[in-house]
Amino acid sequence: MNETVKTGVIGFPVDHSVSPTIHNHWIDEYQINTDRYKKINVDPKLFKEEVLRLKESGTLGLNVTVPLKELAFSFSEEQTEVAKQTGAVNTLTFKNGKVYGDNTDVIGFQRSLDKGTVENNITNKKCLVLGAGGAARAVVCALSNLGGEVFICNRTLEKALKIQKDLGIQSEVVEQENLSAVIGETSFIVNTTSLGLGDTENTTVDFTQVNSQVFVYDLIYNPKLTKFLSAAKERNLGYQNGMKMLIEQAAESFKIWHDILPKNSDKLMNIVEGL
Ligand code: NAP
Repeated sequence: MNETVKTGVIGFPVDHSVSPTIHNHWIDEYQINTDRYKKINVDPKLFKEEVLRLKESGTLGLNVTVPLKELAFSFSEEQTEVAKQTGAVNTLTFKNGKVYGDNTDVIGFQRSLDKGTVENNITNKKCLVLGAGGAARAVVCALSNLGGEVFICNRTLEKALKIQKDLGIQSEVVEQENLSAVIGETSFIVNTTSLGLGDTENTTVDFTQVNSQVFVYDLIYNPKLTKFLSAAKERNLGYQNGMKMLIEQAAESFKIWHDILPKNSDKLMNIVEGL
């Protein structure tokens, strides 16, 4: 593949990414003088070779998605503090012959939250993170930045312990069997696992045990209402899906490359939800 790319998303697979819709919407809205934002599928084994080729051919920047974020971290020559903390890069920028790595998922998650949710459910409150993958790393950092008391629960205990060690953030790891001991005191529950995608269902939480003020967040945005969020809705709990996070992390990447922080809008949310 020898296509020229100014900005785009690289992943494996990347076919279902909605990032081009978001970025191209803003490229049009802000009349940025650049090419269309594109999708680049690359086998992880060929990642470095392809990114080097893109760098040499004048690419400005790339978003990096599953499963290449750790590779992108090791490939970048300079990383922001937040990228260093998470050990993952979702935004590569090529400037002055160098490769810079950033992680905009952290700020994306933070900006996706309403002020009231932060004040009432996160700051100085117990926040439960389900999962310990790449997205969980960003969410744990974000919740800690917002003053949350973080609890991490994952199917594979070792991965939760590894996050705790790698991030160096004050947090507690909860074994799945012991979840009922903390669930009733939790003010914020966020699903960062991929359970809820396709035919899978997230049954980690017994919603009969949660308190009535808890806010429930699912990073998944397609489907818009996972069964996990349906369970929260049925109990009249506050809830939200991952769409705003997706748009906010994209906005921060857009700012890094084009020096404009684009605005989210109902129009854009409707376009993306309609895909
Ligand atoms: P990842 O690194 O592959 O991590 C997947 C996580 O899901 C791990 O904690 C894994 O547990 C858990 N998991 C997978 N299958 C499971 C099962 N059958 N039972 C229990 N746990 C299971 O993926 P990621 O990059 O963190 O992404 C996770 C989710 O977040 C995806 O749905 C992704 O689309 C979404 N996401 C959304 C945004 C957004 O902007 N809205 C951004 C990033 C990611 P183990 O460790 O035990 O395997």
